[in-house]
Amino acid sequence: MTASSPGPLSQVAFVSVERMIRLVHAIGVGRMLAELAGYIEADFRRWRSFDKTPRIASHSHAGVIELMPTSDGVLYGFKYVNGHPGNVHSGRQTVTAFGVLADVETGYPLLLSEMTILTALRTAASSALAARLLAPPGAGTMALIGNGAQAEFQALAFGTVLGVGRLRLYDIDRAASEKCQRNLDGLGFAIEICASAEEAVAGAEIITTATADKRHATILTDNMVGAGVHINAVGGDCPGKTELHADILRRSDIFVEYAPQTRIEGELQQMPPDHPVTELWQVLAGEARGRTDARQITLFDSVGFAVEDYAALRYVRDQIGRIELAEQLDLVADPDDPRDLFGMLLRAA
Ligand code: NAD
Repeated sequence: MTASSPGPLSQVAFVSVERMIRLVHAIGVGRMLAELAGYIEADFRRWRSFDKTPRIASHSHAGVIELMPTSDGVLYGFKYVNGHPGNVHSGRQTVTAFGVLADVETGYPLLLSEMTILTALRTAASSALAARLLAPPGAGTMALIGNGAQAEFQALAFGTVLGVGRLRLYDIDRAASEKCQRNLDGLGFAIEICASAEEAVAGAEIITTATADKRHATILTDNMVGAGVHINAVGGDCPGKTELHADILRRSDIFVEYAPQTRIEGELQQMPPDHPVTELWQVLAGEARGRTDARQITLFDSVGFAVEDYAALRYVRDQIGRIELAEQLDLVADPDDPRDLFGMLLRAA
């Protein structure tokens, strides 16, 4: 090995978009969603092992860029993610992401991964996990409002994990609903495109909202939500960006990932700071109840939390041997003498 050639310690596993796509096809999207839900559940069950902090957000007029770190003392993970609702007008996505998993003992990064696809998968897996605890038993029909990048992943997670078979789609842009219907064709759903959100929620036991707008929107009003419904609110995930009328929150039992973050970012920002909520891990640990009666309205106020991304990165790391998933990146400088970093630079000249 020369002073400048990559040594074994310089190598970091890198999962590109292309390899992530290969992984999803090798495993099968439904199975991968179910397995991711299993990893998230396992990490939620050991909630107290994790460092937790609301994500660090940098806001601009156009959107937000966020860092989402956590550690369990063995591994450290973070995700970089953005949210730019206007991006679609310039051919860009609203949400893109990448993330890192590192070894706490040495501080060395172990894995660098694309996370745009992985975020859509983990968000849908988390929604399905929450719905497993909260949705009315046997729920078969879901209204899916907002039919953009997240929509098919949400549909497939609810199909795989809960057995949802009927979808009622609504988007202000009908082309988005038609894209969603096309992509889900032949995957076991009966799909109806609706002309309004009111029409979409009729007869649905589960309502998923995944719209993108950088403002307080009212996708659902109180009169649209009947007794016994489970709401999976995915799109309100930033200060000033919500989807539900506050009256719905007053009637619902609210479940969140991590309350200090959801109070800043979720639908919950519309409620007083002491409004009661339950964190999902508490239900999994048997410290709180999920759905308790048939008429209860349950609301999963999803914003996306670092432990879910940590679980998703851990899942990807565990698949590395499965297909040729990772390339090796020469990411960490690795001088022969660890204190002679400058000498490494000189010798390379
Ligand atoms: P996207 O821009 O691809 O799709 C959003 C869709 O919502 C578009 O098709 C748009 O036409 C539609 N829409 C906007 N306003 C609407 C309205 N009033 N009624 C009906 N439809 C409407 O965005 P995406 O990547 O699918 O993300 C959707 C939302 O989910 C975003 O707000 C994003 O920030 C959020 N998100 C949350 C999480 C989480 O963990 N909770 C994770 C990823 C994305």
